[in-house]
Amino acid sequence: AKVTRLAPSPTGFIHLGNLYGAFVDERLAHQSNGIFILRIEDTDEKRKVEGAVKLIISSLAYFNLMFDEGASIDGEVGNYGPYFQSNRGEIYQTVAKYLVEIGRAYPCFCTEEELGEIRKQQIAANVNTGYYGKWARDRDLSLEEVQANLQNNISFVLRLRSMGNEDSTFEIDDAIRGQLSLPVNYQDVVILKTNGIPTYHFAHVVDDHLMRVTHVVRGEEWLSTLPIHYELFKTLGWELPVYCHTAHLMKIDNGVKRKLSKRKDPELGLEYYMKLGYHPAAVREYLLTILNSNFEEWRIKNPDSSTDAFQFALNKMSNSGALFDLDKLNDISKNVLLKIPVEEIYDFLLKWAEEYKKDIVNPLTYHKDAVLKLLSIGRDSAKPRKDLIYCEQIFDFISYFFDDYFQIVDKYPKNIEDEEAKKLLKAYLDTYNHSDDQNQWFDKIRAIAAVNGYAEKPKDYKKNPQMYKGHVGDVSTVIRIAVIGRSSSPDVWELQQIMGEEKVRRRIQNLL
Ligand code: GLU
Repeated sequence: AKVTRLAPSPTGFIHLGNLYGAFVDERLAHQSNGIFILRIEDTDEKRKVEGAVKLIISSLAYFNLMFDEGASIDGEVGNYGPYFQSNRGEIYQTVAKYLVEIGRAYPCFCTEEELGEIRKQQIAANVNTGYYGKWARDRDLSLEEVQANLQNNISFVLRLRSMGNEDSTFEIDDAIRGQLSLPVNYQDVVILKTNGIPTYHFAHVVDDHLMRVTHVVRGEEWLSTLPIHYELFKTLGWELPVYCHTAHLMKIDNGVKRKLSKRKDPELGLEYYMKLGYHPAAVREYLLTILNSNFEEWRIKNPDSSTDAFQFALNKMSNSGALFDLDKLNDISKNVLLKIPVEEIYDFLLKWAEEYKKDIVNPLTYHKDAVLKLLSIGRDSAKPRKDLIYCEQIFDFISYFFDDYFQIVDKYPKNIEDEEAKKLLKAYLDTYNHSDDQNQWFDKIRAIAAVNGYAEKPKDYKKNPQMYKGHVGDVSTVIRIAVIGRSSSPDVWELQQIMGEEKVRRRIQNLL
């Protein structure tokens, strides 16, 4: 059984990278009957944002990520806590004291200015070792000197006494990247800051050990500091977890592949998907296609299986940067929605509206039957309708049904002037019979087209444009725009049946 954890910092921004990593964690844990933990890395007071923990928890819940242990909406669950780093101070202190006792950590009293001075000298001497060796001023202070400094209340950080060697390397297996040969750590890195708060390096090692984490899934930005973590684990005599460094999410921007950026790409934030109302199953399906190179092949063979049945594998992950493509997500979403029963889509739409678009909750509730019918149109045919992507767009799409939201968004075909359109609409209204079946209805449109000089087929019009004003399709477009406000939609006859006679007549009347 694998134990994994998601360890976000509550900065008020939770992004696709977090979700991407979380999917990996969740799959590894649950595929092996293991445990998936949520740990909140909230030691950085300056970056802490009010409500950020709630945002993390609710965002992950939106995407149906289930944690077995850790931070939750009402406190925490599990026996390996506390799961908020801000409540783990004593634990870090205890481990740090142990490192001091065995001579592997020491206080460093250098001020920022003094450190700056050391760096300047290093630059001048063209060395790049950081605080180490002869550059580490306080490494070998005597006990008396340390005591005197403490008595004088000089503030200090606690540093690891590294046993590294600038020239040596160590080998480590990354479960995504394979075997890596990395330089051994040779810097006396800070493990506790002046305020006693642990650095990421120290907290990572302590927490992941004590929480029995077996697999550390994290972004590739941590790869360069892996030597520090390796040394800390070794020094403490603890077993190393399996490291899984995921590649950055990339996008193609003007033909150039680059990292998704918080500043430039709104689609990096999870809120983007929640506000638009993407279904979690669609996002999950899409992330799996970019997470595992064999997922799409599996999907073709198992069109109706739940994604949980897919055996996710770390060694099938890309380590050169997974390409994120919104169009592809939208495409996948259409297919995923097609498989979700209409009742469920309706419930999802309503839940989304309650959160993000309160004004449509009543209309949706009041007209539930009509909405269900509108959503059902064309789903079961051999060539099913594929145009629903996410809630906001779905509502926009069915909004023509609601008088309060109905708008004429498209224009009549170019060859048809307003006056001509009125003439056609008047003829339509005059012959309109709400109980006509689909064939009778369309025969009447054909008749109107013929009487008014429109070709029966587009190709006839194309061949002899001077003979006709347009073709029968143009006539139906005029009707479509008058009744539902747009030039493309599911079958108009079906829509009119759902909308009811009064609404159809009123909308046309309003234009005449
Ligand atoms: N708090 C770190 C981050 O948000 C966690 C990295 C890790 O997973 O170890 O980047």
